[in-house]
Amino acid sequence: MELCLDLTKIAEKMGEVPIAAIIVIDDKIKGIGLNAPICLHDATAHAEVMAIRDAGQRVGNYRLPDSTMYITLEPCPMCSGAILHARCKRVVFGATDLKTGTVGGRFNLFKDYPMNHQPKITSGVRAVKVQEELSGYFQRKRILQKEQKRLLRAATLMLEEQTVPITKTKAQANKNKAQDKNKSLKVEAKVETNINLANNNSQLQNSSKLAANSELVMSDHVVNTNNEVKAQILAHETQEQNNNALVSNESSLSSSTTALNTVDIATTGLASEALPATNTQPKTTPVTKDLSAKLGMKKSTAQTRAQKFQLPRQKRIVEQPTLNHHDTDE
Ligand SMILES: [Zn+2]
Repeated sequence: MELCLDLTKIAEKMGEVPIAAIIVIDDKIKGIGLNAPICLHDATAHAEVMAIRDAGQRVGNYRLPDSTMYITLEPCPMCSGAILHARCKRVVFGATDLKTGTVGGRFNLFKDYPMNHQPKITSGVRAVKVQEELSGYFQRKRILQKEQKRLLRAATLMLEEQTVPITKTKAQANKNKAQDKNKSLKVEAKVETNINLANNNSQLQNSSKLAANSELVMSDHVVNTNNEVKAQILAHETQEQNNNALVSNESSLSSSTTALNTVDIATTGLASEALPATNTQPKTTPVTKDLSAKLGMKKSTAQTRAQKFQLPRQKRIVEQPTLNHHDTDE
């Protein structure tokens, strides 16, 4: 029974109700069974059934007539039926199970069930120890279940607390993403407008430069035209001055010729008394004509030059009558 108590600890560690069974045949352990319905997903995997299977495999017989089964807890109806079918000779158990016990705890199957085989029953072996271990196990199990429920409740609360901020943060993140997208779009639009403005400014600068160049060209053209006009005006003024000078020369020449004519008239008047009328004509005109023809000059210039050249001749002409006059007088 002490070995069964040690085996119950292994069953508890497996997460099962700590129940163990041993089958001893000829003072030798032929079968060991642990309660493992949860682990094996088998409702029939009670410690008694597991020990009968193990012993049957070890002995090589489904009948165990000379065997003694040690169990920590009073067997259930299923296990009592298996013990009857295995023909176990003796059954020793520790604690009584008032709920499902079939060896006097709830009812006595071995006495009431009409079978030829009746095993020997020994109960209450280390019953207090088994009961303490079982009660301790169920207390720990209840505590563990409460702790599991509390942890599950805390976990659900934590998940609820986390899910709300997560959803809020997701919504905020989506909002921030939308805002960032709008900001990026606005920045792109600003950049495009700045680029367009820069292009417009450059175009305006180019147009202003072109306008300045055109103004410079126009100013140069105006300067050139002004210079040309000024040159033309100066040429015209010089021409007018020359013409005026020529006119003045002509007038001076005409005045001088008139003066000379008056002198000639005076002299001819004096000479007409001694000389014939044919000699009274001055010889200036043919000379001037010849000079103008030869030099190809204008009439005024030719006349002025001829007057210059003719003045001594006229003087000579004027003097001749005087000489003639003196000659005539002599
Ligand atoms: Zn059972």
